Amino acid sequence: MKPIVFLAMFISMLLIQPVFSQNKSLLNLKWEQNYTPTYDEVIEMYQLLDKNYKNATLLEKGKTDTGKPLHLFVINNKEEFDPVKIKSSGKSILLINNGIHPGEPAGIDASLWFADDILRNKDGLSKILDNTVIIIIPVYSIGGHLNRSAYNRSGQTTPYETGFRGNAKNLDLNRDFTKCDSENAKSFSKIFMEWDPDMFLDTHTTNGSDHQYSITLIPPEPDLFPPIMENFIREKFIPEIYSKMEQGEYDLIPYVSFMFRDPKLGINMTQEGPRYSSGFASMFHSYGMMTESHIYKPYPDRVKSCYQFIVSLAEFTSENSKKIIESRKKGIQESINMDVCPIAYELDTSKYQMIEFKGYETDNEQVSPLNGLKRFGYDRSKPYAEKIKYFDTWDPSEMAQVPEYYILPQGYTDVIERLELAGVKYDRLEKDTIIKVTVDYIDEFSTSQQPGNGHYFHNKVSTHSNVQDIQYYKDDLVIPVRQEKIRYLIEMLEPKARDSFFRWNFFDNILDQREYFSPYGFEENAIKYLEEHPEFKKEFEGKRKSDSDFANNHRAQMSYIYNNSEWFEKTWKRYPVGKIF
Ligand SMILES: [Zn+2]
Repeated sequence: MKPIVFLAMFISMLLIQPVFSQNKSLLNLKWEQNYTPTYDEVIEMYQLLDKNYKNATLLEKGKTDTGKPLHLFVINNKEEFDPVKIKSSGKSILLINNGIHPGEPAGIDASLWFADDILRNKDGLSKILDNTVIIIIPVYSIGGHLNRSAYNRSGQTTPYETGFRGNAKNLDLNRDFTKCDSENAKSFSKIFMEWDPDMFLDTHTTNGSDHQYSITLIPPEPDLFPPIMENFIREKFIPEIYSKMEQGEYDLIPYVSFMFRDPKLGINMTQEGPRYSSGFASMFHSYGMMTESHIYKPYPDRVKSCYQFIVSLAEFTSENSKKIIESRKKGIQESINMDVCPIAYELDTSKYQMIEFKGYETDNEQVSPLNGLKRFGYDRSKPYAEKIKYFDTWDPSEMAQVPEYYILPQGYTDVIERLELAGVKYDRLEKDTIIKVTVDYIDEFSTSQQPGNGHYFHNKVSTHSNVQDIQYYKDDLVIPVRQEKIRYLIEMLEPKARDSFFRWNFFDNILDQREYFSPYGFEENAIKYLEEHPEFKKEFEGKRKSDSDFANNHRAQMSYIYNNSEWFEKTWKRYPVGKIF
């Protein structure tokens, strides 16, 4: 070959070669045929990627309720998989959790596809890894995913078979992040605290409404974050993630949470409390969000739109890596300095923005093909695109004053175990000590008649507080509140907070009395007590004169003396976590 011809060929080869190298896909994903992989197939595919790429590794991180390990797949562009070293290198971390509801597997497929693509540098994707490390939980509810059937999702026709919503202990894991009844949640906490992800995505599928979109987003709820992070979400994250999605095949809209039955009348930003994945992340100043793919769209559209979101989120994270890390650092400091902390919120119905919404007309009198009866439904022959109201602000409806310390008696080992899982720092009393603390008494609460996820949750909690000298013992916990985990501490230890340990039954032992009186057995002491307390005796006699029912009721009089004497136990309904301000 003449040199000049060779040179011309070489130049033309350069021109047609992409600027990045790209390997062949290693995976055999079948979502186009409406098939989602079994648990063994998922793990085998990640093992294959681990074997073939030195920049990825599949780790086992603790147990799940099946006894099988929870896996974590780590992708870095360096052969470094130690979170401490990764953090100190200045890279941000994006955690993607899949299969928390195994009947909603779009994220399981999309994450496998994304891991394969970024490792083989499809379309130059590996550039993302310059600033960001991607970590993926392949399947979170392993027990649910193994419980596979065509009958696990009644409104879903594809994929033909999926796992089940309950895990191996029949728990809904997206209610278990703080109460940690499952081994899955305990292992998840360890992963979350070890890796401290800057961004966190939990992938879901919803059947809550019908519209024209394949994917919707529950973004990090801005009002759950300190000001600098709230601002970053509203001004930077939300606009950019939507505009990134607009450039692809699938548009994104907010998760359709109804103000009323018809989305035309407005939808609202949902706020997920600490029991849910995104709410859990927010307590640790991590930008946590959930995608909700749309059940009534074909499975390939659900997977493709989820893949498109994952790419968009990973790009956003990498492009804004420094800002994200910086905003979290400053946000944590803002939280540490706060005087009061919101513990309950309500939607502000005066604040909204107008967004475009492509829906289907609703029909309250749609005729059922099953029986000819009328029912509510959507008319897919009548699509529309309209501007609708999107209510996106939650105002604090109750605030807690931030104490300097919580004092927790050591006997509450279940609570202590969870505080440790969350990485809370604390000291222990060096000797038995009487401490002047503020304590809350539980005044009113109502309890669900039916159990929910293994608990009888307490609603509508009201309290009053007073200051008492309380005996604590060597090794009881002294928890400084102004630490990195401040939001978690307040959300979990303030009894009135919406998802507190109190509400989840961790302190039910205080709610019934331990001592009482017998109407005859207490009499001798009651008379003696009145003699020793003349002021109280006067009050008692006055009540007997003015209240004839009382005057004729022996038990009521004995009760009155008992309840107003030192015999009455101070520990009844006294929430045992003391506060020092
Ligand atoms: Zn779900």
